[in-house]
Amino acid sequence: MKKAIIVGTGLGAMTTAMRLATRGYKVEMVEKYHQPGGRLNQLKKDGFTFDLGPTFFSMTYEFDEFINDVGLKKMPFTFRELDVLYAVNFRDSDKRYMIYRDLDRLAKEFEEVEPNFREKMDKFLAGAARFFHDTEYLVLKKNYDSLFDYLFTLLRVPLRHSPKLLRSVWTEMERHFESREVKEIFSLVAFFLGATPFDTPAIYTILSYTELVHDGYHNVVGGMYKIVEGLKKELDQAGVVMHFNKEIVDYQYEGKQLTAMVDQHGEKWEADLFVVNADAAWFRHKIFKRKKFSEQKMDKLKWTLAPFTMYLGLNTKLENTPLHNYFLGNNFKEYSGKIFKNDIKLDQPYYYVNVVSKSDPESAPEGCESVFVLCPVPDMRHKPDWSDREEIADNILQDLSGRIGVDLKKHLVSKTIMTPVEWRDDFNLYKGSGLGLGHDLDQIGGFRPKNYDEVFDNVFYVGASTVPGTGLPMAVISSKLVVERITKKYGPLHK
Ligand SMILES: Cc1cc2nc3c(=O)[nH]c(=O)nc-3n(C[C@H](O)[C@H](O)[C@H](O)COP(=O)(O)OP(=O)(O)OC[C@H]3O[C@@H](n4cnc5c(N)ncnc54)[C@H](O)[C@@H]3O)c2cc1C
Repeated sequence: MKKAIIVGTGLGAMTTAMRLATRGYKVEMVEKYHQPGGRLNQLKKDGFTFDLGPTFFSMTYEFDEFINDVGLKKMPFTFRELDVLYAVNFRDSDKRYMIYRDLDRLAKEFEEVEPNFREKMDKFLAGAARFFHDTEYLVLKKNYDSLFDYLFTLLRVPLRHSPKLLRSVWTEMERHFESREVKEIFSLVAFFLGATPFDTPAIYTILSYTELVHDGYHNVVGGMYKIVEGLKKELDQAGVVMHFNKEIVDYQYEGKQLTAMVDQHGEKWEADLFVVNADAAWFRHKIFKRKKFSEQKMDKLKWTLAPFTMYLGLNTKLENTPLHNYFLGNNFKEYSGKIFKNDIKLDQPYYYVNVVSKSDPESAPEGCESVFVLCPVPDMRHKPDWSDREEIADNILQDLSGRIGVDLKKHLVSKTIMTPVEWRDDFNLYKGSGLGLGHDLDQIGGFRPKNYDEVFDNVFYVGASTVPGTGLPMAVISSKLVVERITKKYGPLHK
């Protein structure tokens, strides 16, 4: 029996562990945090329960593929489709745009600002749909053995899509829509990738297609952490052992074989093969100390925005605030251009609010509300000092209070803040960048840190930081891709 050590317990790691265990591997997982899940984590405090990061996701069929692959009869958690995807409010306006999947209802929301919305949206989505279906299997869900292999694959993408490689999400919006409201709202998908629509390639308008047409958005009954709890139960049954509060800080090797990972207490974790779920660029930089991943080179890469997150317990109900909300300002272009580099003050921030107790009332005591706030901010290359955290939090609370008509400070009974410092220190995210490496054309596919190691033959990588990219469904796809590589080398083993 071959033994695999997995470093980390994020979604990519858990799904890899289950796939390997099903194929007859003995698997152990070593995690630096005190509980599993990585960024898909949970905070319980003062009687409130919060999801730490992800609040919704698309492409649920990737979970179906996983369940079938590992032979589970039923999903160990329950998805719930969101009929209102999210609500958007612009500063100094009472109007709230509800983003429905039903395109006729959606068209009504925009009838005053965007004439012929439905027609324009249909055309826009048709282009995105064509790109999605022409590339999903051909490019996205594929391992590449070399850069040449990747570039050769790209040649097979129909030529009609090439303008999408040259344009930005914003330019694509400008080609289809006129109103500022529509352009800004439907380019928010770029922020889901941790970047701005001005520097995100137009290929990512596929996200508008996935949210509005293809599979929509879903969350999980009982909170997103049920995914982790459900998977953990299955992993326990499959004999996969998890170890917490163990951080891998060193390694041992013989020739091209890694023989052990070493944790902060000097304990050695030996195995036949190793799968790293820590950020693939960070691990090569910090643990393997590779020249290609020196701090200087890492700093030059394009990293996604860092999260400034707040977990608020309120002793009142927010009657008029839906589940998912975006609160935007009135200087979208200027803000987007400056926020990455810390060139704009965070006194009039743009942020996302999730009132999780709306869909999962058990996450807050009776009559109370659990609220998650996410404000994209510069990573620690551009803003290393976060001692102004309370001031930023106060600005957001004051702004939000005014916009929803509730004095939040008066009702606040629990408050936890995570700045990029905590995101960096808790999960080893490079300089606090929340979604890791960006999805620029030169950082995806064959250009992204590979899911196999350049030096050690028995080291692999899984998760959002390697192929194909960020987000929960992508982490599940990445486990499929890495297990394909591992079994190609070692074969499916039989118990
Ligand atoms: C604020 C926020 C909101 C998000 N919202 C969404 C959303 O709504 N929808 C969505 O689809 N995605 C969302 N994402 C992205 C999503 O969370 C990630 O893409 C996904 O969870 C990454 O999974 P992963 O497998 O890469 O592992 P990670 O979650 O990155 O886990 C890696 C694990 O490795 C551990 N580790 C690192 N280094 C070591 C070491 N040296 N030794 C031991 N252990 C180590 C870490 O502690 C961590 O537990 C969000 C992310 C953030 C930060």
